This record gives sequence, structure tokens and C-alpha cells, in this order.
Amino acid sequence: MSYDYLIVGAGVFGSTFARLATDAGKRCLVIDKRPHVAGNCYTENQHGINVHVFGPHIFHCNDENIWNFVNRFAKFNNFRNSPIAFHGGKAYSLPFSMYTFNQMWGVLTPEEAQAKIESQRLKLDREPANLEEQALILVGPDIYETLIRDYTRKQWQKDPKDLPASIIKRLPVRLTWDNNYFNDKYQGIPIGGYTALFQNMLDGIDVELSVDYLADIDHWNAKAKQVVFTGKIDEYYGFRFGELEYRSLRFDTEVIETSNYQGNAVINYTEANVPWTRIIEHKHFENDLKTPVSVVTKEIPDTWSRNKTPYYPIGDARNMAIFKQYEALAEAESNLIFGGRLAEYQYYDMHQVIGSAIAKIRKIQQ
Ligand code: UDP
Repeated sequence: MSYDYLIVGAGVFGSTFARLATDAGKRCLVIDKRPHVAGNCYTENQHGINVHVFGPHIFHCNDENIWNFVNRFAKFNNFRNSPIAFHGGKAYSLPFSMYTFNQMWGVLTPEEAQAKIESQRLKLDREPANLEEQALILVGPDIYETLIRDYTRKQWQKDPKDLPASIIKRLPVRLTWDNNYFNDKYQGIPIGGYTALFQNMLDGIDVELSVDYLADIDHWNAKAKQVVFTGKIDEYYGFRFGELEYRSLRFDTEVIETSNYQGNAVINYTEANVPWTRIIEHKHFENDLKTPVSVVTKEIPDTWSRNKTPYYPIGDARNMAIFKQYEALAEAESNLIFGGRLAEYQYYDMHQVIGSAIAKIRKIQQ
């Protein structure tokens, strides 16, 4: 056994864990079934533009340690996410701010906006039971029906009544003219792309790509004292308690002969009859990038099946009950650590995955 840790997956959890363990003097081997590092954060330079191949990734966090950690491997630009939503031939600002309330109702002051929301929002004397109730409590039916209901149905292929309230709490609701999608103190995109960031994070660490751990577990396990698994937890356990559901995505990417296609990095399409949820124009993630062409991606939600790429865990009651059974097995393991969006079955953002890896390492070191 030449390694302390075999780390399965070169995405956010695996790469962070590998870096921190290596810094602490451990020997790590990172493997991944894909031909590249960075997991779904992977970016690829096309026509001078860093293309977010598996969907837009905007780094944001409040934790200084996490921010300092990622800044060891890349400089970040000052990108702020201010998506626009198109609906019925009109454009609305996201997240829900004075801009949105003005576009929706013509109101000009926080007091008017508050009164408008109060006059129509759902009032409950219990906690909201699902996404629809949560949205109606926060912003009322006008905004729910225009900007949330059909986008959510497309994205999750479920009725918002069958989805957890927590999903919509990701979006701020503000009575200020502030259209920054995130509340966090630290925000930005790594200059030079995410792939370079991960390559730097893994600098000096052994990495083997295009190899399938689950197809040859004994071979790989023999290489290290402990295993860190960042893939799908249900697959690891042979689906014995049933399959966890995810949302998959299709990306339809085109090079367009224009220097500016849509004038913003992210435009959401919140109408039911448009098949994509959003169009990403990658060049706008970088500061004032001048290129004669633009790379544009339509993000189209896709039904889940085992052989597709998982993007979003579905945290409804049925799936969580299955996950709890797998989690109990995972907790009883002695030489095996599970971490990340797939192994923890959590709708984590990048910084939360890094936080989870830092916490796991700390626990081991205690
Ligand atoms: N959402 C919505 N309308 C929008 C954008 C988001 O209803 O225009 C809802 C939708 O349910 C989505 C959730 O908010 O799944 C979280 O959106 P976010 O932008 O955080 O998702 P991500 O970028 O992770 O896909």
C-alpha cells in the first residue's frame, strides 16, 4: 500500500480533501472516471472564452478560510451574478429585489413593494410544507406564477407542491435596489477558468484519469489505507435500498458570430413553453472580454436514469428516506469516507462542499 488515501473523484470534495491531506503530510492518489479533473466545475477554453461545460459555476462564500483556500490556487475576478428572467416578452431582474417589484407592479419605494407583497402573499400559521407554499409566503402569486412556478416545473420535472421549501430559499428577497444574486461577502470567478484552479489544487498529487473505481474496487482499494468516495452513494452500495433520483441536464452549446449575444451571463426562461431553463453566454463571466465570437449554451433539464450525469439531488421525502438508509451504512464504515454533492446527497454549492471536506479532515485529525 503506497498511499494513505485513495480519493475517488477529482471534483470539489476529492480535490479539496487531497490538497488538505497532502498538506498534512499524507500521500494521496486521486482517480476519476472522466478524462479531466474539476468534476462539474470543468471549464474549457473555446475561442478565447472559458466555457463552463457542465453549467455555470459562480463562486461565493462568507467564510474567510474557504475564500483564502480557493485563492491559493487562482486569482478571482469580481463577477457579480445578476440574472435576467424573460417571460411574456418582458425582462425581470433576479433575485427578487426592488428592480423586480418595479418591473412587475410599477412600484418605486420599498414601502409600496412591501404593501403589494403583503396584500397578496400567503399567510400560514405553520411552516410551509413545500416549495409552492414557501414561494407564495415570500413573494405572492404574481411573482410565483411569472418567475417561479414554470421554471421550477421544468427544472425538477415535479410540481412545486412536491418539492422541498428549502430550494426556493436559495434566492434572496430584498426591498433594496440590489440585484446581486448572492448575499455573500466573497464572490467571483477564477481568472483562467476552474480547470486551472483544480490543476493547481492537485499540484504534486498523483492523479489517474479515465479509470473506473467501481469496476475494479479490489484493485484500487489495495493501493491505500483509506478510501474517500465522492460518487453516488446508492451506486456504491449496489442500489440495495433503491435508486436515488437526480436531475440531469443537456447542454446545447453554439458558437455565434457576434461579440455580444444576450448582454448578460445568465438569462432565465421562466415560461413553460420554452424547453431550456436558461441560456449562458460564457464570455460575460469574464471582465470585459473582447472576442469576435461568443459561446452560448442552452441548459435543458433532462429526466434521470442511471447512465446519465447527475447534477441535482432531489431532496424530497421519498429520496431522503432512501438516502438515510445508505447514510447509516456509510456511518458504520471504518476505512471509508463519503463526501460531496453525490455521496452526501445534498444540493451543495461549491463552497459548501469545500466546507464539508475541511470538516471531514478536521475530524480525522482530532
Ligand atoms: N428558480 C425559479 N426561477 C428562476 C430561478 C430559480 O423558480 O428564475 C427556482 C427554481 O426552483 C430553482 C431554484 O430556484 O431550482 C434554485 O435556483 P438557483 O438559481 O439557485 O439554481 P442553480 O443555479 O443551482 O441551478
